[in-house]
Amino acid sequence: MNKKLLVVGAHSGDFVWRAAGTIAKTIEEGGTALVIAMTYGERGESGELWKEDPKRSEESVKIIRQQQATKAAEIIGTTIQFLDWGDYPMVLTNDRIKQLTTIIGDFEPNVILTHSEKDPFNPDHPLAFQAVQQARLLSSGAGVPSAFKNIDPPVWYSFEPHQPELSGFIPDTFIDISSVMEKKLAAMNCMGAQNYLKDYYAELAGRRANHARRISGNKEIKFAEAHQSMVPRVVSTIF
Ligand SMILES: [Zn+2]
Repeated sequence: MNKKLLVVGAHSGDFVWRAAGTIAKTIEEGGTALVIAMTYGERGESGELWKEDPKRSEESVKIIRQQQATKAAEIIGTTIQFLDWGDYPMVLTNDRIKQLTTIIGDFEPNVILTHSEKDPFNPDHPLAFQAVQQARLLSSGAGVPSAFKNIDPPVWYSFEPHQPELSGFIPDTFIDISSVMEKKLAAMNCMGAQNYLKDYYAELAGRRANHARRISGNKEIKFAEAHQSMVPRVVSTIF
């Protein structure tokens, strides 16, 4: 099967913390990935850069954030595209939904990974969810032909938000990222603007691996990422 993974993040760093392992694993297995960063996270997720120099311009923060995310994407082997929609607050317009619909239609992903529906601690993450929900439906025409280029409806997951319980996130899919954890660590190391998250997400991968081992009995899993499926999966056999 042709494996194409589309990862949509509201801010340029989101894919690194929440999905770098899943992306690297897809590529390791011969698939391709495209990361969409709707914004650079220049206002809401660049606290350390602003602390360093409160007088710096927003443009200079964007440039640093673009460089960091590009480096991280290179390490895990994915293409990344920046939409520069502006964050905190990110605003959705019809044109932006159409832009995302075109991206989905052009890339034709089998799987889309994005934010959870709720995130009471971030104003942009639920908007990214909404945008993906709309664009995915427009590009797949709800199963019938429509005005947009129609593709088969991609499988769709939410990746893990920072405060899962308070965001209503219930993981039902664990990806064994043990073989690519070094890449995730190296990618996280690129994100200087959000240094404090590195240890947190390394520990989380270890904790999720504990859950994955208990669920599956596979003792080889050392690191894992957890996701929640947004649509039922259709399979040809229950085995
Ligand atoms: Zn974010």
